[in-house]
Amino acid sequence: LLELGSAANGIAGQLSGLIQALSCWQRIESLLQGPVDAVAPALPKPLGESISRVSLNDVSFSYAGDRLNLQGISLETPLPRRIALVGPSGSGKSTVLNLLSRIYDTTSGSIAFDGIDIRDLDPDSLKSAIAMVNQDNTLFDGSIRYNIRLGRLDAGDSEVEQAARAAEIHDFIQSLPQGYDTEVGEGGRLLSGGQRQRIVIARAILRDPQILMLDEATASLDAEAAAAIGRTLARIGATRTVLSVTHRLASCPAMDLICVFRDGSLAEIGTHDELLRHRGTYHGLWEKQSQIEIAESGRDVDITL
Ligand code: ATP
Repeated sequence: LLELGSAANGIAGQLSGLIQALSCWQRIESLLQGPVDAVAPALPKPLGESISRVSLNDVSFSYAGDRLNLQGISLETPLPRRIALVGPSGSGKSTVLNLLSRIYDTTSGSIAFDGIDIRDLDPDSLKSAIAMVNQDNTLFDGSIRYNIRLGRLDAGDSEVEQAARAAEIHDFIQSLPQGYDTEVGEGGRLLSGGQRQRIVIARAILRDPQILMLDEATASLDAEAAAAIGRTLARIGATRTVLSVTHRLASCPAMDLICVFRDGSLAEIGTHDELLRHRGTYHGLWEKQSQIEIAESGRDVDITL
């Protein structure tokens, strides 16, 4: 009887371990595949190996149906490009990323990659083309190596390290007694927010997506770390599209295109120099940031635009 009891306990333990592993795997799956959850088209078209153009045609969108959160957005650009989305809080920047990754469908107007309407694309091919890094930088219980490798499960150790170098976190990892085998703890609680964020960025870099989307991804980093990540993104952006929602205008001069949002509309679009010459909204925001930086005499400043 005692033996039966302990066998039952053992099975129960294994079952609970299995359930835990399954739920963890579901979280990992959703993390790797991205959150695209839209209706699949009847005849899905695959995305090509290298996306060369994106267009938004008079796009409007409403979350709740009571008011438009985005209205009349039109934009066409060749890819790859380094694109910054800037503007005041609530102006619609993250919503644009949500529509481009098809977390939501447009309320009116259309979005196309290489001339194919996003609603006709094979959802799996869109998922694999896009990686998103936002401020929700949760890690999984396991080692640092494991957490980076989640970006691409067949990556070798040297590729994991290369991604960590690109995310400016390799030196820190090397300085730990257990190096890449250091356990991060549940949710990554043994690391700081900035360290977690860089591991999440390394994971996305390892995945090497065609389009890397960053939503305030460097907000939790200090100015030096954010600048280092900015340099990495500029490098990645030579061959991959980087779409970065940011309140830090310091990264904008290195971008190919800056989209300035205001009240759900695309207020201005151009390069840093063009927008400064235009002396409009972007010029005002840049001046404001510069003045604050001078006033704070070099201290890291995150102004809320
Ligand atoms: P921030 O810089 O603060 O991140 P943002 O420019 O990215 O802002 P969005 O997050 O795109 O702005 O939000 C645009 C508008 O849509 C805001 O008014 C916001 O309150 C609203 N909104 C965003 N997400 C949702 C949601 N899930 N449900 C309803 N309304 C939402």
